Amino acid sequence: MTQELTTSAATPDSTELLRAVRGMHDILPIHSARWQWLEHQTQLLLHAYGYQEIRTPLVEMTALFCRSIGNVTDIVAKEMYQFSDRGGDDLSLRPEGTASCVRAAIEHGLFNQPQRLWYMGPMFRRERPQRGRFRQFHQIGVETFGLSGPDIDLEILLFTKRLWEVLQLPNLQLEINSLGDPADRVHYRTALVNYLQQHYDSLDEDSQQRLITNPLRILDSKNPALAPIIAAAPSVLEYLGDEARAHFNTLCRGLERAGVTYTINPRLVRGLDYYNRTVFEWITTELGAQGTVCAGGRYDGLVEQLGGRSTPAVGFALGVERLLELLDPAFIENHAPDVYFVAVGEQAPIEALLIADRLRRELPHLRLLNHCGGGSFKSQFKKADKSGAQWALILGDDELTKGVIGMKTLRGEAQQLQIPVAELTAQLDQLLRARVSTI
Ligand code: ATP
Ligand code: MG
Repeated sequence: MTQELTTSAATPDSTELLRAVRGMHDILPIHSARWQWLEHQTQLLLHAYGYQEIRTPLVEMTALFCRSIGNVTDIVAKEMYQFSDRGGDDLSLRPEGTASCVRAAIEHGLFNQPQRLWYMGPMFRRERPQRGRFRQFHQIGVETFGLSGPDIDLEILLFTKRLWEVLQLPNLQLEINSLGDPADRVHYRTALVNYLQQHYDSLDEDSQQRLITNPLRILDSKNPALAPIIAAAPSVLEYLGDEARAHFNTLCRGLERAGVTYTINPRLVRGLDYYNRTVFEWITTELGAQGTVCAGGRYDGLVEQLGGRSTPAVGFALGVERLLELLDPAFIENHAPDVYFVAVGEQAPIEALLIADRLRRELPHLRLLNHCGGGSFKSQFKKADKSGAQWALILGDDELTKGVIGMKTLRGEAQQLQIPVAELTAQLDQLLRARVSTI
């Protein structure tokens, strides 16, 4: 890490073109409407379920992630953007949001009542960039605290299911599993290690390592050579204690009653260490290897592990970039203006700005783009057309003298109208109503 810091801190040759950091992307204006649409729809739905937003810093003490995610996970061992700041503090860019939520909730005493929280924003992991896998990526996450029953597990699964309906994503599949309670896991871990030891020579180096540090994670291996060994491994579901089993059964029955199709996948363990009981993933086959768009589960031990009082918790995070790739572009509202204001002459450009401001005040939904920078009617109309606007408003010397504004559709044949300035708001209001009803 020190080596990299030194390299990137070196002053680049002044002629060298500076580029974004590998695996980190600009979201350009042509794409931002899709982002905003997805974020807005998700927020509306979160509020409909009574969830409240929490915003935490992008940078935390490294120790927070070591203690929560676990030192032996890939994230902490290999992927964190970790650095010492000028005061010598050991800091990291957040690789996920759960640890920060728990830290903030402990710090501000939020655990005296149940909490339903959500967050959204960038996360940072130094993974190998590829389709659906970036070094800065975005998550929308939900964390609930203080609720131990299977009803809340069901609620968040129903929320995600509803979200896919709103986003018009019908092809996501739900996989669920239970990792049991800590004591169940100890028994299971022993059985799994015994089994895997019999296949030690066939394991890859990573898995041989994990056999000591984190054997459950071997089930999550993406190495196809290990698939047959993993498929024949003992199932965690056979090691569930009575309480964990009852919790899981109630959740499964609830999903059935709600008409949610799911598959039980006893190999689903999730990448992070802190889960117990319910774990789940929503998966698509449309994104190649990076098919998980949303993942989560229960993590009843984490709050205590981070120094708070024992508090049950369940949550999930979804990968915004992966979901965006699945969205049908036809559902995305664009940000083209309704109206492009053409203004030619000595006085007209300034007059047009003043009229435009009044219109925006009177019609809060109006999207109006003023032409700025002068030019002939012809060149301004070309820009108006290119802007994607539906209508042009026109102000020249002639209109100024008469106290009218020209109005013309940019999408079809129709005569230019002359509208008295006083009637402009009412006219535009009518056109906007027609637009809203056709969306
Ligand atoms: P994966 O198995 O794909 O590496 P993960 O188990 O590391 O995922 P989580 O930490 O549970 O993922 O994050 C939740 C979601 O965030 C993932 O399901 C995925 O949609 C998204 N995500 C995780 N890492 C990345 C990344 N590097 N780039 C883009 N999206 C990501
Ligand atoms: Mg990962």
